[in-house]
Amino acid sequence: MKIIDYVIIGAGQAGFFAGQTLLKQENKTKITIIDEDLDSFYYRASLKYMVKKRVGEKELIGTTQSFFKNKRINKIAQKVSVINPSDNSVILGDNTIIHYKKLLIATGGYSYIPQIPGSEIEGVYPQRTLEDTRRICEIADRGKFKKCLILGAGVLGTELAESLVERGVKVELFSNRNTLVPRMLDSRAAEIVADLFKKNGVKIHYEASFSKILEDENKKVRGVETTKGEIIDCDGVFICTGMKRNIELAKNAGLNVERGILTNNFLQTSEPNIFAAGDVVEIVDDKQSHHLIDLWGPAGDMGKIAAQNMMDNSNPIPYNIGAFHAYTIFWKHNCHVLGDFAPKDLTGVETLTYDQKSSTTHNYYKMHFKDNRIIGILSLGEARDPIHLQHIISEQLSIPPNISKKEIIERGFDYERILYAKR
Ligand SMILES: Cc1cc2nc3c(=O)[nH]c(=O)nc-3n(C[C@H](O)[C@H](O)[C@H](O)COP(=O)(O)OP(=O)(O)OC[C@H]3O[C@@H](n4cnc5c(N)ncnc54)[C@H](O)[C@@H]3O)c2cc1C
Repeated sequence: MKIIDYVIIGAGQAGFFAGQTLLKQENKTKITIIDEDLDSFYYRASLKYMVKKRVGEKELIGTTQSFFKNKRINKIAQKVSVINPSDNSVILGDNTIIHYKKLLIATGGYSYIPQIPGSEIEGVYPQRTLEDTRRICEIADRGKFKKCLILGAGVLGTELAESLVERGVKVELFSNRNTLVPRMLDSRAAEIVADLFKKNGVKIHYEASFSKILEDENKKVRGVETTKGEIIDCDGVFICTGMKRNIELAKNAGLNVERGILTNNFLQTSEPNIFAAGDVVEIVDDKQSHHLIDLWGPAGDMGKIAAQNMMDNSNPIPYNIGAFHAYTIFWKHNCHVLGDFAPKDLTGVETLTYDQKSSTTHNYYKMHFKDNRIIGILSLGEARDPIHLQHIISEQLSIPPNISKKEIIERGFDYERILYAKR
């Protein structure tokens, strides 16, 4: 029986970076990476730039294909259907059995499609994969999208709306709440972003969803009936209502799962020689707090850490959750949220905002301070990448007495002075 040193399920961001890290090991260990998506690996978070025509498939795949040509890597394009921890094996869709010494589950997630009558009709699309994106671009270029409706006004829905508009498609956006991107924006920021969308011709429907998707005589989408009883014609419907984690394999294998695959800080699952990384993970830290992090950067970092711990678990490295940071861009307005950017408990919290509109940009910054430290930030507009603020927040650096908080925010996050202040 042949036993592979390291088997990775999923060649997304987490699986790819795990594989790269494992390759750095100087011995002759063999690595098998299995992914059912024939295109993997590609930069999933950059698919929007393909719709915007800023990048092509070549750039999305980047230089990563040379990685898979390495003789120590065996890439298999198949679905893993079973994990058997009892004999350290996985079974592929064609019934091939592969035995592993250490296994990494990096299966990410899939687009959640709510149960709306008609969601199976041709012309209703998710956007998760390169193949989904190819199809969107092709149909748009054939001039077949005169008007599209997007259900879901979170980051993915708004990003897709903007990308489709840039590709010449007319778009209407549906939010089931009275706001946009609620996971990042407060009500003022959502108002500013909504104005940007309206200015660019996107109609927003608030507190509305689809009660039915309607088909034409060719069994293709012709419109929707909204939950407000309105009939709206369209020739494409996009469902951007969130992501579900691919936990079934782990669950069926008897691993501990809740919303994600439960791991400790070292990304080790309830089976000692099985690790997990990326979107699929739910980390339970030393204080028993649960963390679900579905972001591109952290998925890669988790892949690297999991790989290190798979190679040497005698002195494991914890995954540093650090201060939360998410980023997107709305019509040339950078949007970052960091740390506790919407604190629920306002006891002892001081909040400052800066809200200034110029002819080109609306800058809206909001900072929360506690015990003379920055605990969270929402930044919309032209402020520089506040990545250093993530360090200031996670390291809990205090604000030196000679620096006013008002100045920090008015200068678009004057972080050098805090970072390099003598303490
Ligand atoms: C359109 C879009 C835009 C995004 N934009 C951003 C952004 O701007 N910023 C940001 O931080 N994040 C963004 N994200 C989220 C980011 O892409 C994810 O956090 C990241 O891709 C997670 O990486 P992962 O490796 O954990 O999972 P994935 O990228 O989902 O990769 C998992 C892989 O596992 C494979 N797989 C699953 N099950 C099996 C199985 N049983 N057998 C074989 N293979 C399997 C899948 O085919 C897939 O290739 C975006 C996501 C999408 C969909």
